[in-house]
Amino acid sequence: MSVRRCNDFRWDDVEVLAYKETGSHFRDITRQILFGAELDLQAQLRYFEIAPGGYSTLERHLHAHGVMILRGRGRVLLGDRVESVTARDLVSIPAMTWHQFRADAGESLGFLCLVNAERDKPQLPTDDELAQLRATPAVAEFIRW
Ligand code: MN
Repeated sequence: MSVRRCNDFRWDDVEVLAYKETGSHFRDITRQILFGAELDLQAQLRYFEIAPGGYSTLERHLHAHGVMILRGRGRVLLGDRVESVTARDLVSIPAMTWHQFRADAGESLGFLCLVNAERDKPQLPTDDELAQLRATPAVAEFIRW
């Protein structure tokens, strides 16, 4: 049992990690695992923070994400839609839905992301899938790859 305090979106005893190792396209984003293996949960709660101008990987996978925006504003790709998001909004990302977050409103975008502890690896778009995504103009304008 513990209480870990937060100071400016950094928590006691929580490491600020690289977002991902290699092999995908992203920019200016960090990852903190707030609840991971230390509790007997089937889930993890992570905090991601995207610096202004940054973005997460354009990806999809079999596992779902429950996301709560915690700070700032930005936009998210959800399937074939682009939505504005702001602090305390909830974003549901079902299985196999293309998604990408962007801090494109001139401020940091921080969000909590709830996932299954055991989950499949993200899939990146093939050239064909990218072309399909770009067939929707709002999506073509939005995605970073
Ligand atoms: Mn994902």
